[in-house]
Amino acid sequence: MTTPLARLLMDRIAAAGPLTVADFMTECLLHPEHGYYTTRPPFGAEGDFITAPEISQMFGELIGLSLAQVWMDQDRPAPFVLAELGPGRGTLMADVLRATKSVPGFHAAAQVVFVEASPALRAEQAQRVPGATWVGTVAELPAGPLYVVANEFFDALPIRQFQRAGRGWSERVVAVRDGGLRFALAPPAPVPALATRLADTCDGDIVEFCPMAAPIVTTLATQIAQQGGAALFVDYGNWAGTGDTLQALADHAPVDPLATPGTADITAHVDFAALAAAAAPRMASAMVPQGVVLERWGITQRAQTLARSMSGTALESHIAAHRRLTHPDEMGLLFKMLAMTPPGRAGWPGLEPWTPEPPTAA
Ligand code: SAH
Repeated sequence: MTTPLARLLMDRIAAAGPLTVADFMTECLLHPEHGYYTTRPPFGAEGDFITAPEISQMFGELIGLSLAQVWMDQDRPAPFVLAELGPGRGTLMADVLRATKSVPGFHAAAQVVFVEASPALRAEQAQRVPGATWVGTVAELPAGPLYVVANEFFDALPIRQFQRAGRGWSERVVAVRDGGLRFALAPPAPVPALATRLADTCDGDIVEFCPMAAPIVTTLATQIAQQGGAALFVDYGNWAGTGDTLQALADHAPVDPLATPGTADITAHVDFAALAAAAAPRMASAMVPQGVVLERWGITQRAQTLARSMSGTALESHIAAHRRLTHPDEMGLLFKMLAMTPPGRAGWPGLEPWTPEPPTAA
């Protein structure tokens, strides 16, 4: 099957040459007529994937309570900006706000601002979070102390892929061959942005680079360092990983990213080392697995409290949701959290460094 977007991209490649993986991702996700986010509601049980805030209210509630703790540790600045990047359906912020209702002064001081590219999703967010306002980029956020959360935002930003070739890199591109879209390698060239990766890779290794990520983090870090606040990033990914992590999902199942452009969600693992490096010195926390942070925040006690008023299938799905968010075989280990707080101030609670258990002897 050839999608309308695949035909458009093949024409464009025939006229102007191969696309970077980043250009390909951008077209697949945001093409004004055929893009994935433009044409369908991607989230929830009926969508192509389900995210942590949609799995259980506990996720957003615990983020909200820990965020309120950071705000109190910073002497409750008022007013302040409460921002979310890529809020999807608005569920996370709705849970943050419900959980912080009884924190004295928090709601009165908070101005909720969403950074969202998709007009269709803005409408959905407005229904769940009345009183929110919107900007298109982090550079447009209002001045003031800035508290930011972002779940599965960075994984949707386009990445470029490079294969190590001596001291240079061959960019992996999308070309046309045998009448279809195929991956190909551009001739090797030096890539200054990948200078630090020469030390930890070998010939033939693939590394990924997200050009939009560092400027976004630096913009947030600058405002937080100067005016106070904090940021919490949650995503699937790793620390300076290697390998091709481009992934397309349709109807909850992986598909070939080149096979049906525009009809599948496309994401890539997030490089948390690049996020941390883009913060000012002494601002970034450790990278800690989601399951570890949620346990530190007391998710199991919270789950038990909620379970007391449940029975039957509701109780079963509640137990499954707890497992899905925290278990190492589910989202607990693949998803990571990283926070930023002003240099010299208290860190985000729960984001203290973590060391994996050494494997036990057989
Ligand atoms: N945080 C939500 C949704 C994650 S999907 C959840 O956890 O359920 C990614 C979100 O980022 C969507 O809301 C998408 O529209 C938004 N997004 C993607 N690229 C963006 C960009 N460049 N600028 C602003 N928002 C973007």
